[in-house]
Amino acid sequence: MAARAENLADSAEIAALAARLSREITGEVHVDAFSRGRYATDASFYQILPAGVVVPRTMDEALRALAIARDDGRKVTPRGGGTSQCGQTVNDGIVIDFSKHLNRLISLDVDRRSCVVEPGIVLDDLNRQLRQHGLWFPVDVSTASRATIGGMAGNNSCGGRSLRYGTMRDNTVSIEAALADGTLLHFGEVPRDLAGLDSPQDGVALFADMLALGEREANEIAERFPKVQRRVGGYNLDALVPRNAPNNMAHLLVGSEGTLAFTTRVELKLWPVIRNKVLGVCHFGSFYEAMDAAQHLVRLKPIAVELVDRTMIALGRDIAMFQPVIAAAVRGDPDAILVVEFAEEDQDENLRRLKQLTELMADLGFAWSNPRRKWGGVVEVTEAPLQTAIADFRAAGLNVMMSMKEAGKPVSFVEDCAVPLPHLADYTERLNAIFARHGTSGTMYAHASEGCLHVRPVLNLRLEKDVKAMRAIAEETFAMVRDYKGSHSGEHGDGIVRSEFHEAMFGPRIVADFREIKHRFDPGNVLNPGKIVDARKMDDRSLFRYPPDYRVGELKTVLDWSAYTGAGGGFQGAVEMCNNNGACRKLEGGVMCPSFRATRDEKDVTRGRANTLRLAISGQLGPDALSSDEMMETMKLCVSCKACRHECPTGVDMAKMKIEVLAARAARHGLTLRDRLVGYLPRYADLASHLAPLANWRNRSALLRNLFERVAGISAARALPAFRRDTFKPAAETIGPEDGRAVVLFADTFNRIYERENLDAALRVLVAGGYRIHLPKPARGNRPLCCGRTFLSAGLVDQAHLELHRLVETYAPFAARGMPIIGLEPSCLLTLRDELLSLRSDESAKAVSAQAVLFEEFLVREAEAGRLQLPLRAIAGKALVHGHCHQKSFDAFKQVAQALRLVPYLNVEVIESSCCGMAGAFGYGAETYQASLAMAELSLLPTVRKAEATTLLVADGTSCRHQIADGTGRSALHVARVLALSLDRVNSNPAPTSAEGQHHG
Ligand SMILES: Cc1cc2nc3c(=O)[nH]c(=O)nc-3n(C[C@H](O)[C@H](O)[C@H](O)COP(=O)(O)OP(=O)(O)OC[C@H]3O[C@@H](n4cnc5c(N)ncnc54)[C@H](O)[C@@H]3O)c2cc1C
Ligand code: SF4
Ligand code: SF4
Repeated sequence: MAARAENLADSAEIAALAARLSREITGEVHVDAFSRGRYATDASFYQILPAGVVVPRTMDEALRALAIARDDGRKVTPRGGGTSQCGQTVNDGIVIDFSKHLNRLISLDVDRRSCVVEPGIVLDDLNRQLRQHGLWFPVDVSTASRATIGGMAGNNSCGGRSLRYGTMRDNTVSIEAALADGTLLHFGEVPRDLAGLDSPQDGVALFADMLALGEREANEIAERFPKVQRRVGGYNLDALVPRNAPNNMAHLLVGSEGTLAFTTRVELKLWPVIRNKVLGVCHFGSFYEAMDAAQHLVRLKPIAVELVDRTMIALGRDIAMFQPVIAAAVRGDPDAILVVEFAEEDQDENLRRLKQLTELMADLGFAWSNPRRKWGGVVEVTEAPLQTAIADFRAAGLNVMMSMKEAGKPVSFVEDCAVPLPHLADYTERLNAIFARHGTSGTMYAHASEGCLHVRPVLNLRLEKDVKAMRAIAEETFAMVRDYKGSHSGEHGDGIVRSEFHEAMFGPRIVADFREIKHRFDPGNVLNPGKIVDARKMDDRSLFRYPPDYRVGELKTVLDWSAYTGAGGGFQGAVEMCNNNGACRKLEGGVMCPSFRATRDEKDVTRGRANTLRLAISGQLGPDALSSDEMMETMKLCVSCKACRHECPTGVDMAKMKIEVLAARAARHGLTLRDRLVGYLPRYADLASHLAPLANWRNRSALLRNLFERVAGISAARALPAFRRDTFKPAAETIGPEDGRAVVLFADTFNRIYERENLDAALRVLVAGGYRIHLPKPARGNRPLCCGRTFLSAGLVDQAHLELHRLVETYAPFAARGMPIIGLEPSCLLTLRDELLSLRSDESAKAVSAQAVLFEEFLVREAEAGRLQLPLRAIAGKALVHGHCHQKSFDAFKQVAQALRLVPYLNVEVIESSCCGMAGAFGYGAETYQASLAMAELSLLPTVRKAEATTLLVADGTSCRHQIADGTGRSALHVARVLALSLDRVNSNPAPTSAEGQHHG
């Protein structure tokens, strides 16, 4: 009861604080359990619930929030992308998120090669803006797509090429930052004599104290600080010693993990972009020999030496998309490879060093003809595409490891120790022995050139025995690292994982210095306390994301989750797959996650949704959280694009999880009118088509549009797809030559009702290709077949099940005869490959699923097998193609371009776009209409608007075509119609025009 009373008092205080914050700043202030839960974790295994979250719009607001929170006696933790692996960003005070609004490139000096940025700018975003000036910021962390410069400075991050470019510290010229008391200071290079320094009095006094500490402790620092480049643990006291004069005060802030000051601006040193490079893939028959060789290879001054071990190569060999790169770059059966990268401006110099590398490997005694231990040599890679493929393979190999569905997972805590290169071989051998002693193992990869290998032993941190093993492994590993005079924190920072070990690593005197610095900067202990100094124990389970009392109760799920472990038939395991690495926060490239790209809100990203689900199913958000309004709000902008299923490194499948949420919601609260209108469309579509003029009345009447918006939540701004009387009704159950190869054509509801031209075109192409097309009548009931997609999107899983049951019954005999089941609408056809198997696991369903193929996939397959002859003729010079998200999620998009390239002289260009934003009914929702447009405006619509009038626009998705038409007034075609048009040209214009001919390529 006492605790409850305290909680109530605390909630009242938090509410009062929130009210004050909301009055004084225009940015977002969140104190609800759902939002706080989303900021309670980062990419570490910790979870601490903050009291509140502030997302300021301006830097002034950020400083105002700091002052208000401080006055209220709260801790304050600044946060960027939240991708820290050691628990740096979790705390129980107020979290201030810089990433959403404070992300500008403030100034750029191309001649001096420097720039000033706000702390929330994402590295990739910055580099996109710098590229046009031939410059880049080279601290290329693996999380470049979402790591912010403020966070990188906070952690003293390091890129794979730090051998050449150094760490964040080496590339930070100055920092403007506010102390906890609000004093804004410029931290840059200062002379040892501060007499003439142009800085406020407080600043001069602070810097003087710091320089004095550096002088006093110079010997201890020289003695105790590891002499490896990868030392990011503790505060950078070495920046203060007289030997490093003039001293750069910013370097003390770098790596301080938000504990000393609040960064408001960072001045960065920039470098010319890499124009030329070559790779030498050094092969080794023995892992030990590879590690031993690293110290010699770095003598040739490569910019990186990256390790890929046997396990990762084996994983790659199992994945179809990596087989070609392994075939091209890996020879024989190496125990390890070291990928050595040379990137001088002069390509001849790179080639010369590549030759030297081969000679050096020979001098070290490696030869292809030697027995195992000294077997090896160099495969030279000079072509850019293969170089990129090797980099992609290395990145994806890690992802495959991370996607383990078991309860044990690779855990990051000794992941970035760094040792001097001469000890690397012994270190790795002893590290493996430590793992083995504790009943686990780990795959090693990454930065051999810096003696900083990544390795995550597999542990289940819900088990006390594994937590004990983690502690023992950490203690033994760090002791070994200390013997080698290495660094226990070589890349990812200290946070909660590493800070308690500072005393063992640096000694008590240095740790006392760390404390003195913290106290001098932040006497009230406001800024992110408990990191670097005075940290809790790394194995304090009360701080874990999965603490001892973590439980997921009984869950009734509607889909099959048996591939995972835990409650709800594995739904728990699927939810818990998210390890918070933040890849879903990327802003460009691929599709994931379109809602985040539109809002940049943690609520609207896959990670935010997965965390919310985890907290909900484990009872941390109160009863019935899964079907609550807040959960619906969390899922509101998820367009079910399935991009996360494909692009999330651990395969978090939010579109599928959303079905569970919708089903739980429908079961508990019933359906809204819009859910009914959308879900049951396949059932009433034929009747509506008969009554087309009446059914379309709403589109013509402003009054009805407004009424629909009010009663059904359908945006008045949108025209609904128009019903028509001449829907698709096949003339016969089989069409095409009797001796033709038999296929089934699935006429989905959307194409059947709204755009029969697509089905007609598909038939025309298939007949021209000599196929015998089956359009079987439903085995049960009179109404046409349906994949159940619309029902799934409304949470009507039972109805979807019913529809799929009819479809499987009808198609199973054809599937059993090996007939491809061809569909045009990606979201419908791919339901047969995806959700069908989550609803039915019988042989008939599996057979239908296995035979389901998109129109263009089928044609490309046939063409590649030499079975497709279509008399196609030129129709246009250029086609611009937008891919449907589900095509991309199922690796079925490139076939659209391939199919279009069957058309002579057609130059096919793919639009770099994420989701079109329409996504079924999403774009029609009154409350999601604006977000829908925002998603489309990110790249799709602007690109379409720029296209010439003669360019063909191609989009296979019904929704995508509607969004393009609504947003630009231009019509896009299904690929089937482009091919049919090309067939129809046979007689009218057999030769390409000269303009069309120019684009041939
Ligand atoms: C899969 C994976 C791979 C990774 N690879 C690398 C790698 O190659 N190299 C590497 O170095 N790291 C790596 N990391 C760790 C992490 O991504 C980096 O440290 C990254 O730079 C953190 O950026 P962020 O924006 O997410 O910072 P956050 O995690 O949000 O914050 C990091 C620290 O900075 C502080 N901070 C943030 N903003 C401010 C501010 N305005 N003022 C003061 N303090 C602030 C925070 O309080 C926190 O202590 C990896 C992490 C993951 C999950
Ligand atoms: S959803 Fe996937 S990509 Fe996003 S943070 Fe979680 S694991 Fe990473
Ligand atoms: S399905 Fe699409 S919108 Fe939804 S979380 Fe995944 S990537 Fe984001």
